[in-house]
Amino acid sequence: MYSKTKHIFFDLDDTLWDFEKNSYEVLQVLFSEYSLSDKLKTDFTSFHTTYKEVNSQLWRRYYKKEIDKQFLRNNRFDLVFKKFSYSNYDENLKLTDHYLQKSPYGTHLKSGCIETLDYLKTRYTLHIITNGFKEVQHIKLNTCALRSYFQQIIISEEHQLIKPEEKIFRLAQTFAKCEKEDCLMIGDNLESDIEGALNAGWQAIWLNPHPKEGKINQISDLTELKRIL
Ligand SMILES: [Mg+2]
Repeated sequence: MYSKTKHIFFDLDDTLWDFEKNSYEVLQVLFSEYSLSDKLKTDFTSFHTTYKEVNSQLWRRYYKKEIDKQFLRNNRFDLVFKKFSYSNYDENLKLTDHYLQKSPYGTHLKSGCIETLDYLKTRYTLHIITNGFKEVQHIKLNTCALRSYFQQIIISEEHQLIKPEEKIFRLAQTFAKCEKEDCLMIGDNLESDIEGALNAGWQAIWLNPHPKEGKINQISDLTELKRIL
């Protein structure tokens, strides 16, 4: 099925770098440092659940180009605060800065990440295509010693493009000097990684912890790639 594959393009957040776990740890520390339990009159669990909902809604709007990076950054904690009937815009900005300074230094990777990359790097040329912001994505790659596995690291923001736009997949082909038939995308986001890649004529494997029935090839853990590639 993947006999033509020569180039594998990975998403970064929640595909290789455990965004969920790294973000959870930073938010837990900041929740206590900012005494949010008193201010929001809630516990960390419900703060975190609300943050995730607000953040993913904002990212969806960012993907659709309804809001820009600045809006996403400057409003996410304020929107969370408001859900708990608390309002302090300046504190929201301070918290955002603090969160962005700390979070890219997290070192949790997705299960089996390094052993899978070690296996794949001798067989394929590996690359990254990420929609994350440039100043944090480079820190993550360096902190976790991931950079050397990849030939091209394509950060959408640096090219004013964003997955699932077809243009970013074509740009990736240009950088990697390959044809669409040679390309396989692996990512955790159905819309931006998987549908984007399939629409560009690539193959795709969805990293989905809870695989569903359907036509899309799925794995629940990165190490499964060692069996199929
Ligand atoms: Mg992702």
